[in-house]
Amino acid sequence: MREAAFDASPAGLALLAGPELRYELANQSYRALCPDPGADLRGRRFDEARPLTREPLDQTVRQVLASGVPFDRETEIADASGKRHWFAVLVRRVEAPSGPAVLIALRENTELVQARWAAEAAADGAGRRAAELEAIMEAIPDGVMVFDAAGAVVRMNAAAAESWRGVGIDIGSAGGSAFQHFELRGEDGRPMPAGEWPVRRALSGERVRGVHLRCAPEGARPMWMLASAAPILDAAGKVMGAVLNFSDETTLHELAEARDDLIRMVSHDLRTPLSAIYAQAHLIRRAADPPGKAGERAAAIERSCERMSGMIQDLVEVTLLEAGQLPVTLTPVDVAALVPDILHGIRGGLAVDRVRLQLAPACWASLDPARLERVVVNLVSNALKYSSQDVLVSLECMDNAVALAVADTGVGISADDQARIFERYYRAKGNRRPEGLGLGLYITRLLVEGMGGRIEVESRLGAGSTFRVIFSAAGVPGTGGG
Ligand code: ADP
Repeated sequence: MREAAFDASPAGLALLAGPELRYELANQSYRALCPDPGADLRGRRFDEARPLTREPLDQTVRQVLASGVPFDRETEIADASGKRHWFAVLVRRVEAPSGPAVLIALRENTELVQARWAAEAAADGAGRRAAELEAIMEAIPDGVMVFDAAGAVVRMNAAAAESWRGVGIDIGSAGGSAFQHFELRGEDGRPMPAGEWPVRRALSGERVRGVHLRCAPEGARPMWMLASAAPILDAAGKVMGAVLNFSDETTLHELAEARDDLIRMVSHDLRTPLSAIYAQAHLIRRAADPPGKAGERAAAIERSCERMSGMIQDLVEVTLLEAGQLPVTLTPVDVAALVPDILHGIRGGLAVDRVRLQLAPACWASLDPARLERVVVNLVSNALKYSSQDVLVSLECMDNAVALAVADTGVGISADDQARIFERYYRAKGNRRPEGLGLGLYITRLLVEGMGGRIEVESRLGAGSTFRVIFSAAGVPGTGGG
């Protein structure tokens, strides 16, 4: 009866009795875990035939018999094929009819152990990912904020918190929908409807990239930001929240405003008195006829006014160009017809009688005529300034491109200087007298590039310089040509 119950148990069971710990009973499940599963264990000593546990249990079994202290452990057992299994091992002292005995129970829990390992590995992975995410958020210099599906702030990184502190707002305490207390305006300064806010758009599933915003929290300084936002989706693709990434552009914006103020000041406040000086000098020169000392002085004042006016114009133009406030409108232009017009227009200010033209007839390019005029004037005035001989303006009309060249035989430009003359504020070295601010060729390059063209220089010191601007050709309007 006792044996039948033993044998029916799915757990491996064995009873060891006597001081030598000989098997009194060992069920089939137990025998299956021993090196020779077919052997009858009854009467054999435990240390002769024991299950293949990783740590031998001899010592344990003896200790339990002697002390009566129960033993519970998990252990690994290899089966006959070498496959490893996990078992819960229980060793207990029991009172058998023959005296004190030891009961060994082995219950397989491989699945349980593997499930526990998998859970531990998953928890480790999740913990690691959380730590990585935390590190990434803090390493990003931009503000990062995470919102729940209702639009409340769940977390944000230090950069975001700092930006909000900078405009005097504690966003953590804003609660609810963090942005409900803010007035958001777009780049154009117009109020932005709530549905267009990047976080709202992201919460309705949209990805938003690079929106310029002016965010004015109640009673705080406005903050300018460049914002991008994306929805956070669960496995089923449902929106769980949104993440907002923004760079604080407030300082940049304040600088841009300061620059615009400066330009307004320079172009208006400096020009007004200069025009008055110029007008007065002009009157004096005309009154001092025939020209005597006074007339010469008045002419010198006029020349200085012109140079100064040129420098102011360069400064204003550079600022506008760099701020993208000098729009370029490309239209098909017949360069061959436009160039003589341009030179005719500047006859009064420059010695254009030294300019010779060599223009291919009807040469169309896609250009902005006003910007091309500035390019031609800059190149021709430099050529006249740095040479005393004739200046040649030539036009080459190719299949896809139009090349306009301004060549002089003057002082030339060293190779070192050639590499840098198109940079901002760069003036060639040597003992030539500085005439401008070193902005003319920089402006020229920006204008040419703004029209999709490029500018090149070829020069040798003492032999002269050739500046060449190249644009893509345009078809003659009305002919259906390319
Ligand atoms: P700026 O506005 O001061 O006239 P630019 O940008 O027009 O300056 O020119 C930059 C430098 O290139 C000048 O310092 C000048 O020495 C040199 N340079 C420009 N054009 C010529 C030329 N045709 N011949 C010799 N040097 C030139």
